[in-house]
Amino acid sequence: MCGIVGYIGEKKAYPILIKGLQCLEYRGYDSAGIALISESGSLNVYKAKGKVADLKVFCEDKDVTGTAGIAHTRWATHGEPNSTNAHPHYSASGRLALIHNGIIENYLTLKEKLIARGISFKSVTDTEVLVQLIEHIMISNDITLLEAVQVALHQVIGAYAIAILDRRHPDTIVCARQSSPLVVGLGAEGDYYLASDASPIAEYTDRVVYLNDGDIAVLQLGKALKVVNIDNETQHPNVKQIDVTLGQLEKGGYPFFMLKEIFEQPACLRDCMRGRINVDADRITLSAVIDYCEKLVSARRIVIVACGTSWHAGLIGKQLIESLCRIPVEVEYASEFRYRDPVIYPDDVVIAISQSGETADTLAAIELARQAGAFVFGVCNAIGASIPRQTQTGVYIHVGPEIGVASTKAFTGQVTVLSMLALCMANERHTIPVELYKEMVRELTLIPAKMEKALKTNEQIERLAPIFTYARNCLYLGRGYNYPVALEGALKLKEISYIHAEGYPAAEMKHGPIALIDSEMPVFVIATRDRLYEKVISNIQEVRARGGRVTAIVTEGDTQIQKFADHIITLPDTLECFQPLIASIPLQLLAYHIAVCKGKDVDRPRNLAKSVTVE
Ligand code: GLU
Repeated sequence: MCGIVGYIGEKKAYPILIKGLQCLEYRGYDSAGIALISESGSLNVYKAKGKVADLKVFCEDKDVTGTAGIAHTRWATHGEPNSTNAHPHYSASGRLALIHNGIIENYLTLKEKLIARGISFKSVTDTEVLVQLIEHIMISNDITLLEAVQVALHQVIGAYAIAILDRRHPDTIVCARQSSPLVVGLGAEGDYYLASDASPIAEYTDRVVYLNDGDIAVLQLGKALKVVNIDNETQHPNVKQIDVTLGQLEKGGYPFFMLKEIFEQPACLRDCMRGRINVDADRITLSAVIDYCEKLVSARRIVIVACGTSWHAGLIGKQLIESLCRIPVEVEYASEFRYRDPVIYPDDVVIAISQSGETADTLAAIELARQAGAFVFGVCNAIGASIPRQTQTGVYIHVGPEIGVASTKAFTGQVTVLSMLALCMANERHTIPVELYKEMVRELTLIPAKMEKALKTNEQIERLAPIFTYARNCLYLGRGYNYPVALEGALKLKEISYIHAEGYPAAEMKHGPIALIDSEMPVFVIATRDRLYEKVISNIQEVRARGGRVTAIVTEGDTQIQKFADHIITLPDTLECFQPLIASIPLQLLAYHIAVCKGKDVDRPRNLAKSVTVE
């Protein structure tokens, strides 16, 4: 959930760490902190409530010298976000400083034992237990930091990525991972970088090692990377080449990453389809489907597990796969699936969707599915993340790093991958005529250009947005493929503008939510021309009859709906099943502009973090 950065080398650590934290701030931003071993050999820890910018101000008059350091931006799980609970945490003697991403589940038991041995605690976090435990073990057994970490981690239950600095060994960082991501960057001068994902490292080196669960790494300046496990067995790190260009991580003239990412979608979807759809635009090749064709096409059932926006993409995937491949599909919240003893058959295919590839609940659902013998297929964005490593196969969405906390391009990338997957499988299963298959593939390749047209609604939406800033509640209605679009539109608004919003299947409204309709309630209806168009018009009239204010998202050339709607947003036509890719655009823009009008920090919405690596 939080962001971890570390550096050990010959360069000044402070600027590298601050820049790294800024890169990772999307992961958590309620407080931040830094630990540096200064030129004079002291271990300095500086922490501040708020954002990395607040930490920078706090550090202005401090000693920030030193070439070794670790830093953290927190997303609090245990203890309120204040400077005491912020990381790094000192050990009792002040010799060690530790940062942590994750949750230590048995921290209370461990804390009681340590208190009984006379150790006192400054914070109320689960994290502080780790540093006190490690130092206590190190001092009482007179062993090295690495040995103490190994002994301590034997006692710890939970998820963690940790990094530790020891004042007495200013050339070394010890770090470890269990269920939380950690990447080591190998610098050219024997120096080391450390981070929760590769983005802060990309500027300095393209050689990285993604640590595996159970790995403990020792980063020692000028020495080869040492990786062992808690039983001190040597692990063999796999050095990977990364490809994250700096431009992808900067705002490129946009005021917020979210707006940049909304506008990037046509290019991202072209990247997503590149090399997978042939130049004649009549065939899709997904290597995962070729390699595991038999397994996939003979699936008795498909279960999609995901959380949040990815779950909405999954609902669209269900409709695509069921209608094109005629395989029953269930869509589950990963967080529910993992705890409700689900029925899983060995001939089930489980599709796990996650932008970051690190979502804790989705990873746990994968584990459960694998134990039950199911075949697990991953759909994710971050290359080399845990999900692609823990699934038998899968497809990357290839939309580049998504920094905005409210997901936009990852959603449309996921829907594009699910569309390609459904089409590939349908073609293999012969459940759709070849001509229709080709027509659909062709249409899919036209989506980026149609998205570009849909993005032209930006100015109109910017003008409309102030009208809705007064709203306390909003309703989003859609049917068929557009129902998950309504859910996603409502989620976007909630996430960044803090207006309560509900997505509903339009016809279900009369079974309850219609009671909420009055002139104060903006209702956004996705009423593109498809099989259910006439029915959606009836639903709009039901809202109007009760004084509701309707903004309709319609297909170009529509002449009917303007008679009933207060505002009309027009989109290019496409096949019904690809409509979500186009119809999501105005809803993303609407949420964005409403939030901006309300003065909200769009890229850092309160209480949220980008990748949810805690359960
Ligand atoms: N559980 C720890 C805390 O609340 C770490 C949270 C995080 O990953 O930022 O401080």
